[in-house]
Amino acid sequence: MSTPQKFDAHGFAHAHVARQRPRAHRLHQLRDAALEAASLGYFVIPLWPESKVPAMHRETRCPGRGDCAHGHRGWEARATRDLETICRWWDAAPLNVGIAAGRSGLHVLDLDAAHGEQAPAQWHGCRDGTDVLARVAARAGARPPTDTRTVRTPTGGSHLYFQAPPSISLRNTVARVGWRVDSRGDGGFVVAAGSWREEGWYELAVDAPVRPMPLWLIPRLRPPAFPPASTSIVHGARPSLSRRRAYLTTVEARVTAAEPGTRHDVLLRSAYSLGRLVGGGDLAEDEARNSLLGATSRWPGSPSRKDIRTIDDGLTAGIRHPRKLAS
Ligand SMILES: [Zn+2]
Repeated sequence: MSTPQKFDAHGFAHAHVARQRPRAHRLHQLRDAALEAASLGYFVIPLWPESKVPAMHRETRCPGRGDCAHGHRGWEARATRDLETICRWWDAAPLNVGIAAGRSGLHVLDLDAAHGEQAPAQWHGCRDGTDVLARVAARAGARPPTDTRTVRTPTGGSHLYFQAPPSISLRNTVARVGWRVDSRGDGGFVVAAGSWREEGWYELAVDAPVRPMPLWLIPRLRPPAFPPASTSIVHGARPSLSRRRAYLTTVEARVTAAEPGTRHDVLLRSAYSLGRLVGGGDLAEDEARNSLLGATSRWPGSPSRKDIRTIDDGLTAGIRHPRKLAS
């Protein structure tokens, strides 16, 4: 008897059997996924069940106790490979597993599917991030990297793991390499193999050693020397914590107060406006996401999966239209 399968643009088959909801015993699978990542030398963080949102408080909600007794420590600082801590966290709940990319010495390329969209003119003929990377490689006279550790995401994307170059700091990028090609480095995390979301599992697709970052890729991941002509982003210091907090509080209040029937629109618009600040470098992505999640959590039955998707959609769209917090 055959298993129903679907194939993506590159012929990868996704067995529907992998799309079952986690049961109680999946608690152990998720804990094992965290232990596995730590055994590879990676620093892990807990993500809320079925999500890619860090299960840790953010700076604007810091209780100032425990791990934060001497000042707030964000998810990146609290990421761990301590086996006892991991067992304590993952025995408590079926948490997804995040890998702090930069802290683990990794820079991970995130090749996304088209999700029904056509490539912009510049990338005409490309079906998805994998095609775009192949084209970028060809222009550099190189072959696209295929023999490094790779994780398939449940929405048809691929995470290609590379050793971060030792001498420079590479932060997260959004569409800098090209359409549907993002990356996670210093200040970023990826969802590890063995994690589960509504759409399915994150699965190890290429079980190879993590290769050094190809040299031709490094300049394409670095920030541009000048801001792109289409935006007016001025690279400078982040606004103060109190400015960011005031902005977030305003947005949260708007989301919390949204009447039933308007909530989807208000949440999408709020996520979009925060996403723009993320794109401009004034907010961290998880700071924006946690802020919105916190605001929706006061709605009955929320945050629902639809809310989480709305937040993702709004942030992603906003990041592509960056702006700075107005002065
Ligand atoms: Zn704290």
